[in-house]
Amino acid sequence: MAVEAATGPAKGKVLIRNIGLLLSGALENPILEADAILVVDGKIAAFGRENQLPDAPEATVIDARGGAVAPGLIDSHVHPVIGDWTPRQNQIGWVESFLNGGVTTMVSAGEVHSPGRPRDIVGLKAHAIFAQRSFFNMRPAGVKILAGAPVLEKGMVESDFKELAEAGVGLLGEVGLGSVKAGYEAKEMVAWARKYGIQSTIHTGGPSIPGSGLIDKDTVLEADADIIGHINGGHTALPEGHVCELCERSSRAIEIVHNGNERVAIAAVKVAKDLGVLHRVILGTDSPAGSGVQPLGILRTISMLSSLGGISAAEAICLATGTTARIRNLDGGLIEVGRAADFVFLDRAQHSAGRDMLHSIELGDIPGIGMVMIDGVIRCGRSRNTPPAERVPEVMGH
Ligand SMILES: [Zn+2]
Repeated sequence: MAVEAATGPAKGKVLIRNIGLLLSGALENPILEADAILVVDGKIAAFGRENQLPDAPEATVIDARGGAVAPGLIDSHVHPVIGDWTPRQNQIGWVESFLNGGVTTMVSAGEVHSPGRPRDIVGLKAHAIFAQRSFFNMRPAGVKILAGAPVLEKGMVESDFKELAEAGVGLLGEVGLGSVKAGYEAKEMVAWARKYGIQSTIHTGGPSIPGSGLIDKDTVLEADADIIGHINGGHTALPEGHVCELCERSSRAIEIVHNGNERVAIAAVKVAKDLGVLHRVILGTDSPAGSGVQPLGILRTISMLSSLGGISAAEAICLATGTTARIRNLDGGLIEVGRAADFVFLDRAQHSAGRDMLHSIELGDIPGIGMVMIDGVIRCGRSRNTPPAERVPEVMGH
């Protein structure tokens, strides 16, 4: 069983050597001149050319065998409930499947699939605090899940947001999934949340399931949430012109999801690139969903955007790592000293037509994963979900 308690970062040193391509996660400089990373106690202590790194004879050595290393992928939009179970498609082990898709961190957009979800105010606060604690205390398969994201219901007052923030809640679930749907009502509550350091996301587009509603572009602009959640719809998108207008008129983060309209996802990334605001684009899956659990959802979105959306594979990987980490204030997502040692080891899938890993993504293929590390701990070896990587890393011992 892959479910285990969070045990904190690894103790000791790990040297990752023979990296053929080190991707930084940072859009301003996506590819680093480096072939090695030194990890100490679960954090990046140094990276660069191996002969320039501090000596660490006691380190465990991982030979990347010339493959690529990137920061672990971040899924900015999930709907967890508890542990590694989702009632949405009644599946167990869905988070562990995402780990095999390179995902090391997930951010909840609301625990809205919880059976019997409380909608009264004291109940929804208790539910959010419970979810935050539960996923903080126990990481399914080692994956970091930031949860505890209440959805706005009518009747909430400023002191509710203060109380939630003081109790450790740092996120709002998708605005629009509860009874607060009007722009003017959402705007006041989003501002209260922001005042107490709670980050907000708004549902964008048509209803996801019977009972949820349309959130149009004017409501998104008026509510002014920190993140324009699934700008490409969840699943039904706004007209392309409205999506472009949101990118232009709002200064907030632009979230593209796997469980959305693919044509509009491509339009959104193109307009963001044209406007010079790619640094505001973040990626999620919005899963589990009606379309199921998609362990490769983030990789598939990277591949789609770079093969059809006019951005490079290196840029697309940044959107799912450093860009999301910066907007979400996460400890991973970038190859920087002091950041969490959350890595995905990638290579071109066997028999891809691409020249190398990045080119294979630009041709629309999914790369193969050979290993995933979280906080310096190896959480999986060769992925059971991606096509096989040509080269997989090897643990060499000391
Ligand atoms: Zn939604």
